[in-house]
Amino acid sequence: TAQKETLGFQTEVKQLLNLMIHSLYSNKEIFLRELVSNASDAADKLRFLALSNGELYENDADLKVRISADKEANTVTITDNGIGMTRDEVISSLGTIAKSGTAEFFKNLTGDQSKDSQLIGQFGVGFYSAFIVADQVTVRTRKAGESQGIEWQSAGEGEYTLQEIAKESRGTEIILHLREEEKEFADEWRLRSIVTKYSDHISIPVEMYKAEVPESEGPDGEKIAAEPAKWEGINRATALWTRDKSEVTDEEYKEFYKHVGHDWEEPLSWAHNKVEGKTEYTSLLYIPKKAPFDLWNRERQSGLKLYVQRVFIMDDAEQFMPSYLRFVKGLLDSNDLPLNVSREILQDNKVTQAIRKGCTSRVLKMLERMAKNRADDYQTFWNEFGQVIKEGPAEDMANKEVIAKLLRFSSTHTDDSTQNVSLEQYIERMNSEQDKIYYVVADSFAAAKSSPHLEIFRKKGIEVLLLSDRVDEWMMSHLTEFNEKSFQSITRGDLDLGKLDDEEAKKAQEESEKEVAGLVERIKTALGDNVKDVRFTHRLTDSPACVVADDNDMSSQMQKLMESVGQ
Ligand code: ADP
Ligand code: MG
Repeated sequence: TAQKETLGFQTEVKQLLNLMIHSLYSNKEIFLRELVSNASDAADKLRFLALSNGELYENDADLKVRISADKEANTVTITDNGIGMTRDEVISSLGTIAKSGTAEFFKNLTGDQSKDSQLIGQFGVGFYSAFIVADQVTVRTRKAGESQGIEWQSAGEGEYTLQEIAKESRGTEIILHLREEEKEFADEWRLRSIVTKYSDHISIPVEMYKAEVPESEGPDGEKIAAEPAKWEGINRATALWTRDKSEVTDEEYKEFYKHVGHDWEEPLSWAHNKVEGKTEYTSLLYIPKKAPFDLWNRERQSGLKLYVQRVFIMDDAEQFMPSYLRFVKGLLDSNDLPLNVSREILQDNKVTQAIRKGCTSRVLKMLERMAKNRADDYQTFWNEFGQVIKEGPAEDMANKEVIAKLLRFSSTHTDDSTQNVSLEQYIERMNSEQDKIYYVVADSFAAAKSSPHLEIFRKKGIEVLLLSDRVDEWMMSHLTEFNEKSFQSITRGDLDLGKLDDEEAKKAQEESEKEVAGLVERIKTALGDNVKDVRFTHRLTDSPACVVADDNDMSSQMQKLMESVGQ
């Protein structure tokens, strides 16, 4: 027999396993959802590859998952005839966490279990959840088109073994040896009810073995025929997105999200649409509740799952969402794209553009609706993803107005760092003399809030938006007006408060301007080439002086931003 090899888990896997076991104790049954979800993904991948190479089916194109339990041996087995894994794939998929930036992320763990398990949630649950109920997991797998099988085995405690095996059937078999205290899962009825609860939406059949039913007699002595033992489908086995909206329950949408989104939280919102006409497609788009840990990682994969006529084509098709909506998860099923569509073809394609346009406006509408009807949820959304949305005005000129409506700011109205003021609210609070939307951008919220430029506004009771996110200066350079009110930075050039200045005050200012003319000259000479100009200002009420940018120059924020990207 082949040599057995022992390998160690990546450090992060050990931490993940440990945290998972301690944080999911109240919801152990989800291990089955995760393993069935993986089996379904494996079927999708095989079907896709078989489009160009039918031999991969090995005369078995009837893709399915089977679940069985053995009470005596105390095991649960999940078998699929999907794509399977090679030795290398087993090592990378079941021994590491294959996401860039993971090590970095794990360095931030605090050691406080309850806090850390919250963080860990961003990874989704996945295969390792098997160890919540099992103290020994065996994976036997053979990749489609390959002849060599491989067996992986682990107790989930730091290492695993690998051994080459002969495996006739293609695909993957996962045998869970249950922990003594989790015996209850080795029960057919228990397993059935878990599948019904979490995996009914899986589009391939999930089957369980039904024992032989002997011939019997009915109440009136009539004969009831015997039934032979057989594998019986226990899920609905139709692709959820092909069903009618009115027939899908919220629960089903939520469970489906966990499957397509590889997330363990429920989504915040979703939109399911069938589009007919020139381009025909179905979209099912979800807004997650939490931002992934790598939202700002440039190499991060994002995008939708793409299906063509119900056949899975690819994950992470990023062409259907603009970058400022890169947190959206879900799927598209197109009737117009060819089955052999590639990323290159998608790149520059009329169908892609039409779908992208439709999906973008659908997401924006969904957010608008949430902002209007579910303010708390919208605030949750904004706290997680607001900074990404702020890239919108620069990226998506066509939807600038709609995006501006979605923006939320801190302002002097509350002086709180929570960004919860909309432009509509700001305008509503404006007095009749005010015709501009005033804002200040600084390095931090504290700096914005205590900016000396604010003094005159506070005195006059004029609300000012307080901006301090990295992206803010960039965003404001692309926002010119909202509802016919233009934006005005209070730190730029000659600030004209227009009608907001009263006549008497103006006169007094002119007087004092004359008085200090000599002083201004002296300061100008002293500062020399370090400044462009020195001006008298009536903007300050408490501070003696402040630095401003000329109207045509870059603001100090923008200069810093440009420096940070190497300009
Ligand atoms: P995810 O499903 O989010 O990728 P998992 O932890 O659930 O993460 O699975 C990790 C990887 O292991 C999968 O991406 C896949 O490559 C591989 N895998 C897991 N189960 C199977 C299976 N039944 N058949 C083929 N590959 C599998
Ligand atoms: Mg998975």
